[in-house]
Amino acid sequence: MALPPRLTDEQRLKALEKAAASRKRRAYIKSELKSGSLVIDNILELSKTDEAVANMRVRELLESLSGVGKVRALTLMERLEISPTRRVKGLGRHQITQIRNEFMKSSHAISPGKLLVLSGPGGVGKSTVAKKLREVGDFWVSVSYTTRQPRSNEVNGRDYHFVSHEVFQTMINNGEFLEWAEFAGNRYGTTQDKVEQALLLGKNVLLEIEIAGAKQVKAHLPQSILVFLEPPSWEELVSRLEGRGTDDEVRRAQRLELAQAELDAASSFDVVLVNDEVEGVVQKLIELAS
Ligand code: 5GP
Repeated sequence: MALPPRLTDEQRLKALEKAAASRKRRAYIKSELKSGSLVIDNILELSKTDEAVANMRVRELLESLSGVGKVRALTLMERLEISPTRRVKGLGRHQITQIRNEFMKSSHAISPGKLLVLSGPGGVGKSTVAKKLREVGDFWVSVSYTTRQPRSNEVNGRDYHFVSHEVFQTMINNGEFLEWAEFAGNRYGTTQDKVEQALLLGKNVLLEIEIAGAKQVKAHLPQSILVFLEPPSWEELVSRLEGRGTDDEVRRAQRLELAQAELDAASSFDVVLVNDEVEGVVQKLIELAS
């Protein structure tokens, strides 16, 4: 028998970290199943994008459902001819349908949350609206990845995940992004897994992104609602962009030119809102998600 490959210390550490993260995720999924916050249908959906869920044993999963103990789980697996060691990712299409039918009779899936995509020209005030919405509305707001340098008032992990070009490229190669785009010389992207998880958990999700990315989201998830935020006037937008102390002159000029082109995109959005008053816009977004 071939010997297993020898790992370096670094590789061993990485493998241990990955295993610990998977264990934590599985424990979380099981507790959500027990409490009824998640139902089997949510898990079968999650397993398409979440490696830790895909690798869970079917038996573990069934036993975690409220009202299903070891005996019922095993009996059911025998009846459906699922081997006791089978993992979720190894389930056949027919078996998935049978499990769904078995449990959907007695439980109801959480209805998925709504996905609002807030877009519009740079400088129109999207991030102010998103911040306010996070404070007052029941929304999960996605934190994007970017290759841009942090501004002085920005915090890594809160405003953005600031990453190098190399890391961003690896994430593209790994298919981690729901959408990504280049804007004024930098890349920005939204990761897929967290957005899908939040929606499956029934949360309303807000993405605050530029226009090309918004269109990608619509192409992947047609149920998303694209909201275009317009400035009260062009003059107002110019003064907001010029007043930005955080960008240098070249960057401001680039952004103005871009903003002109971006304003033309409003017609391809589902909803257009004029940002004359932040509270009013936030209220309308809450209404759109209800
Ligand atoms: P800023 O550099 O001013 O923070 O953002 C520049 C532009 O990138 C803004 O229009 C902002 O909405 C957009 N943006 C932020 N995050 C993302 C993202 O994840 N994807 C896309 N496509 N655009 C984003």
